[in-house]
Amino acid sequence: MPASNIKVFLRIRPCAKPSPAFQAEEERGAVSFELERQASDVEVNNQKLSHNFRFDGILPMAITQEQVLNMVAKPVIDDVLSGVNGTIFAYGQTGSGKTFTITGGPTRYEDRGLIPRTIAYMFECFRRSDAQYKMYISYLEIYQDTGYDLLREDSAQKLEDLPKVQLREDDDGHFHLRNLSVNTAASQEDALNLLFLGDTNRVVAETPMNDASTRSHCLFIIWVESTPPGSDVVRRSKLHLVDLAGSERVSRTGVEGKLLNEAKAINLSLHYLERVIVALHARSQGKQMHVPYRDSMMTSVLRDSLGGNCKTTMVACSAVEASNIDETISTCRFAQRVAQIKNDAKINEELDPTLLIARLKREAAELRQELSVARGGVDGGGEEALTPEDVEQCRALVLQYVSRKVDPKEPFVCGSVGRLRCSFRILRDLCNGARRTGGTGDSAAQAGLEAEASKLRLEIAQRDQEIGVMVQMLSKQRGGGDSRPFIMSEGPAGLTQAISAAASVTAPSQTDLSTTCPTSQTDLSTTCPAAGGGASPERQQPSSEQQPPTDPLAGGQQPISQPAPKPKVAPRIPGQPRNQLPLPPVADAAALLLDQERAFEVFKQTVYRPPESFEENKSLLKEKISQAKAIGDGANQVRTGINQAKAQLERLRMERAVTAANQNEASALEDGPEELAEVQKIDHLKGAYRERTADLRRVKSEVEQIQRLLEQNRVKMQKEFEQWFVALRKQAELSKLDDGTK
Ligand code: ADP
Ligand code: MG
Repeated sequence: MPASNIKVFLRIRPCAKPSPAFQAEEERGAVSFELERQASDVEVNNQKLSHNFRFDGILPMAITQEQVLNMVAKPVIDDVLSGVNGTIFAYGQTGSGKTFTITGGPTRYEDRGLIPRTIAYMFECFRRSDAQYKMYISYLEIYQDTGYDLLREDSAQKLEDLPKVQLREDDDGHFHLRNLSVNTAASQEDALNLLFLGDTNRVVAETPMNDASTRSHCLFIIWVESTPPGSDVVRRSKLHLVDLAGSERVSRTGVEGKLLNEAKAINLSLHYLERVIVALHARSQGKQMHVPYRDSMMTSVLRDSLGGNCKTTMVACSAVEASNIDETISTCRFAQRVAQIKNDAKINEELDPTLLIARLKREAAELRQELSVARGGVDGGGEEALTPEDVEQCRALVLQYVSRKVDPKEPFVCGSVGRLRCSFRILRDLCNGARRTGGTGDSAAQAGLEAEASKLRLEIAQRDQEIGVMVQMLSKQRGGGDSRPFIMSEGPAGLTQAISAAASVTAPSQTDLSTTCPTSQTDLSTTCPAAGGGASPERQQPSSEQQPPTDPLAGGQQPISQPAPKPKVAPRIPGQPRNQLPLPPVADAAALLLDQERAFEVFKQTVYRPPESFEENKSLLKEKISQAKAIGDGANQVRTGINQAKAQLERLRMERAVTAANQNEASALEDGPEELAEVQKIDHLKGAYRERTADLRRVKSEVEQIQRLLEQNRVKMQKEFEQWFVALRKQAELSKLDDGTK
């Protein structure tokens, strides 16, 4: 395969019976297909037709989602974090695992895909780095060449309810996505809530007759803005995670009418994608060729990802059952062409005038202070009047200074000459006090202890607060197994409320992308929303409101006290299409139509089948909660250890101070081996404590993600119920008509 900066991986969906024609050599990244040539009447011997393809990597059937993240996504994400644009897109026929790869499987927690894992990985990197990061998120669905914003509407019942996104091209040929919201994600939780809102809108927009997810393209866009410490430079980059529509050929789908039009529209947009790739391929071979980006919305949006300033990775998704081999070969062919495109990825950084001004102001203030010190404060016209707070601040600085907690090389900066004088006075008083009180109270040592103690008290209070919040969260969950702390309760017809509640968690602010970026870089293809200033979207506080415990599948409704006799409904046959759910006899249906709550109960108990992974997720949730509890207990133990060590250290220092004062020995004020051992012990315990709180945070985030999965299942069930209920009504109306005609 020719060298290229676009990486192409082949993912093979698990299957029980792979075609014998298919062979893969993982180490070489090679796959081959040996097909029997169709024997015609005149041919005597069947000839083999062989197709060979090479990839940057093969993702075999057994690969885990974590391994896919490591192999495929981490290199791209690392570049995005250093300011280089990235795109990961999944291509392949319907059912080949594109959504599984990009978003994840619909039910099992372990199956979560690249988007949630990328979010978690990015926030982990943010925490580890000294740089300042900001994240913004957009989620766009393109259906029949029209863009829809998945993050703005929280009560959409169908795709058309979502706000439309327009594509504009400016005089410089840059594309702008107008009306696409850019939402601040200040934490991992915010980002996952946005993903949840978008995915819920995706689920709701899709109906059994119009499975939008296989006929539309979805782009999850993460914008990252970073500023290295002390730098005036801002790096802006974006990561596109793209789930393309199914690539199957129209002839194979055997559909007609609206579906045929849709299939044509998908094929048309994929056809445009193919044309763009062919043109880029020709260009990479030195030919002059127009690249028809603007023929479709999708190619316009992906302009930079293909042949532009971007690191791009394609995951070609394939199914290798005999019946899918033709499509898989065509997917591999497409991938080979993509692999030959050349991109020119570079770091997007620029000087941020607001940061530059802030730094210059800071420097000017420092210089002014130095100048005033150099002039001995004479220009201020007499002694500066200090407030009691100023004096307290000076005292704290002096205490910190004499407690040997600051590096002696560090300059003693207190702000002004008046404050400097005040600090000297405090120091003098301390010394005098030490001399006067003799052995019973070495002021400097005492001051050191005081400073240390107040710092530690503050630290303990902060940690206590952190633990308190987590313990509260855990106890609420243990209290009744409520797995939906984000969701307000709603009745059986409460789909809309469910989604608005989900949305209320984050309530993303909405900004027209072209107005979000105050600089000239409003072009989606090169920028992300500018930070700071009034134009950046504001994050709203997530609601901390929690609901009383409810059955995760019960839609939050009150239990029915008298169980109503259940009408007989034929159980649903596994694999039966969703739009053919079994209906009860007409006589029972009439009663159910009058009582929607009861109808919901009946639906849940006799018609609906929760996904197999439902129980698995519930027990995983339990396990994670007890894991969190164990970590919380461990953290408490370590905290107790820290407190004991601190008390011991204070005691030792006090003893030493007393001895030193008695013997008038200044050098004895230094920490001795016992104190140093305690200090070391405290440091070690603090590290352990930090680790535990980080673990606790991680487990808390896992708990929340499982809860979101359960909630998504519930939304799906709600939708199925609504369809079932409509069918029930139709059946009743038909039977009324029948009665009328009799
Ligand atoms: P696409 O988005 O390409 O149409 P999906 O991602 O929806 O396909 O996959 C179709 C079905 O196969 C889904 O039920 C999905 O959960 C399952 N699936 C796909 N890939 C895998 C995989 N690697 N492991 C387990 N299940 C998979
Ligand atoms: Mg899909």
